[in-house]
Amino acid sequence: MVQLKKTLALCGGVPVCKEILASPKWPPINEATADRLRDVYLSGMWSFNSPAEQAFQKAFAEYHGAKHGIFMSNGTTTLEAALTVCGIGNGDEVIVPALTWMATAMAVHYVGATPVFVDVEPTTFCIDSEKVKAAITPKTRAIIAVHLYGSMADLEALQLIAAKHDLELIEDCAHMHGGKWNGKGVGSWGKIGSFSFQQSKTLSSGEGGICLTNDDEIAEKLFCYKHIGYRRDTAQGGSQQGPPEGLCCHNYRSTAFEATILLDQLAELEKRIEKYNESVLCLANRLAGVDGVRIQSPGRLASPQGYYGLLIAFDKGPIASISKKLIAEAAAAEGLPLVGTYGPVYKHILYNMPSDKYRIAGEPCTVADFTAVERTFCLYHQWLGADNKIIDMMGNIIEKIVTNADTLAMLNRK
Ligand SMILES: *Cc1c(COP(=O)(O)O)cnc(C)c1O
Repeated sequence: MVQLKKTLALCGGVPVCKEILASPKWPPINEATADRLRDVYLSGMWSFNSPAEQAFQKAFAEYHGAKHGIFMSNGTTTLEAALTVCGIGNGDEVIVPALTWMATAMAVHYVGATPVFVDVEPTTFCIDSEKVKAAITPKTRAIIAVHLYGSMADLEALQLIAAKHDLELIEDCAHMHGGKWNGKGVGSWGKIGSFSFQQSKTLSSGEGGICLTNDDEIAEKLFCYKHIGYRRDTAQGGSQQGPPEGLCCHNYRSTAFEATILLDQLAELEKRIEKYNESVLCLANRLAGVDGVRIQSPGRLASPQGYYGLLIAFDKGPIASISKKLIAEAAAAEGLPLVGTYGPVYKHILYNMPSDKYRIAGEPCTVADFTAVERTFCLYHQWLGADNKIIDMMGNIIEKIVTNADTLAMLNRK
């Protein structure tokens, strides 16, 4: 196909969109949920493993094919709880991806263990299982696999590694609500799966989190841990038995209000994810013949894929030498605001750990340090909920930028 090259808006040409595309609103607001929240309020059953919390954790666990769900205050405490009940602490090492939200690594610090950062794959941007093997030492106790933005970590490879070296596999699914790997829900593969329901996530109640597990004993410990030691299935104040000895329990409870919002959103999740998958396919098809740009490849056996975002990398051909800043300026001028990725944890402005408190395995982490930081943008999931017309327009904008790499190269030099 002969590509007609249009002048970039940045250089005075007509923009693809007259106005900058507005990010679709998130979280979703729903009148019926507001009514149910009123009912919960009037019921006075707000916390202490209330009926709404029980209903939500059961439904969410079932959706993902896990036996137990333990609802908690957020997706950071869930990770800390997961590590704690696996007995991980001082002197232990936990392998985490270099590219993830800080919480994944901070949870390891909270329990007194050492995070060992491993680079991610250039295609999925999830932890590289070959590099995980090389990072294992006698101190390694666990791997936290993060299903990042729009991809799943290689669960089968990681499960094999974990089994071979007697490590716990914990899944950080904060980005992957509703995703299934080879037909089985994320969060049900590892010993424990952790999810966040913070404001920006695909299921959102402002704050909140959940641990999934198939292990009865772990479920009991997780429940005690978040509920100041109370056992499951005992009325508040009616415990006949304390928590397991030495398990230093917290109040990491959430409330019935969050659970009520989440129950309603869960009913919409399958449809929402279907739309996200359709949008990504539409964008993938649109960009298939455009050299230089690629989208994050889905987990090998993902169906459906969950999405917190979709990564878009400009790392091949002439566009690969144009600065990310200039690409963002050109995209904004055409009407598409583009934002970056987290970047590697150990370079994050909020990560203040001294370098003897963590380890970077197999430096340099080329993908986390360079590809993710310098070449990659993230389209957050709410964009994937937009009309196919908008998705197509985003494709037009990206294509226009890539095909004008020569013009951008001249601006780049200035
Ligand atoms: C959001 C997030 C968390 C933490 O969740 P909070 O509920 O914000 O504490 C953990 N891991 C990843 C990858 C996340 O994106």
